[in-house]
Amino acid sequence: MKTRPSFSLSILASALLSAGLTGCSSTGTPAFQSAGNDITVEQQARQIAQQRIIVDTHIDVPYRLHKDWEDVSQATKRGEFDYPRARAGGLNAPFMSIYIPASYERTGGGYQLANQLIDSMEALVGRAPDKFAMAYTTADVQNQFGSQKISLALGMENGTPIGGDLTNLQHFYQRGIRYITLAHSESNHISDSSYDLRRRWQGLSPFGKELVVAMNNIGMMIDISHVSDDAFYQVVGLSKVPVIASHSSLRSYTPGFERNMDDDMLRALAKNGGVVQINFGSSFVTAMANQYGALRKAAAKQAGVADDAAFELAFRKKNPYPFATLDTVLDHIDHVVKLIGIEHVGIGSDYDGVGDSLPIGLKDVASYPNLIQGLLERGYNEQDIDKILSGNLLRVWREVEAFAATQKAQA
Ligand SMILES: [Zn+2]
Repeated sequence: MKTRPSFSLSILASALLSAGLTGCSSTGTPAFQSAGNDITVEQQARQIAQQRIIVDTHIDVPYRLHKDWEDVSQATKRGEFDYPRARAGGLNAPFMSIYIPASYERTGGGYQLANQLIDSMEALVGRAPDKFAMAYTTADVQNQFGSQKISLALGMENGTPIGGDLTNLQHFYQRGIRYITLAHSESNHISDSSYDLRRRWQGLSPFGKELVVAMNNIGMMIDISHVSDDAFYQVVGLSKVPVIASHSSLRSYTPGFERNMDDDMLRALAKNGGVVQINFGSSFVTAMANQYGALRKAAAKQAGVADDAAFELAFRKKNPYPFATLDTVLDHIDHVVKLIGIEHVGIGSDYDGVGDSLPIGLKDVASYPNLIQGLLERGYNEQDIDKILSGNLLRVWREVEAFAATQKAQA
């Protein structure tokens, strides 16, 4: 029994080979040990992207299609999102931005536009039910994970469609909106905006304060991206549940840019239990790209011409845009983790929302594996990466759902 015919070993070897289990047998490495250990960091990143839930809280597909329709259930030439690229990148649940330009606060029509944009996402699901499904709850995101379907969650960017009437909050909750960015680039009837020097409310309006409470009660996440610092502090003071910044980066890399969060705000966000979802746009992550727009505007003014698309093209030819890189975005994530911990950071790319300003290495929804590879190379383990990809956001969303359930039970 000590010696076995050599042919049985070769049978074993070929069985292992056909099962794909042998590694580098020629070097004498035991087959089973080498299996799984030999994959590159790039391969590991691709695996994690497919095996973990990826939630991106800000993608501007609805408004992109409203302006320039394409069939995103197929590969598209324009834009940064389509089904094949999302699948390749491992994206499971994008929050589709129901974006209402700030001007609608003055002109009216925001309620109608919001409903049209929601209709367009339902139409997409209706046309391609094998590829997309709506997601109204954290359970929907979990349950649809592992199928071929991408879960479409809805966030409303700019509270203008609420129109000062809480019955509209109820309406948009029923239509599936699960977060509202209180204001956009101009102050509105709810809140002051970081981009708007007129500080009409010194933070939130009286209705805005009511709205925060009502959003808590109904189970709608509060998004503090875009609002002024005063409004942010008033929101975290009032909210009984954690809040999100759906697509903001850090002010320490873009000094003076109120649209991003400073370190004190991050500490207040951590105390609230909330999460900042890092915006990838170059102008959000580096000071150079951040100042580029102001330089272009100044050049247009000096030349006495409009700062339009044609001028931008000409300006870019003379002054190449200073694209950020994947590493800069990783620096922002690192900064949050070092300052307030791994529980409070996620991703809100702003794909289809920031034009041709995306960092090298993060150009579209196929790029999440690059981000994961970068995190692995910086020493993050898979559990930590999972928190960044979706765990933190889903935790906040679950808390918001749970609080609303207790309010309904009491009613
Ligand atoms: Zn935005």
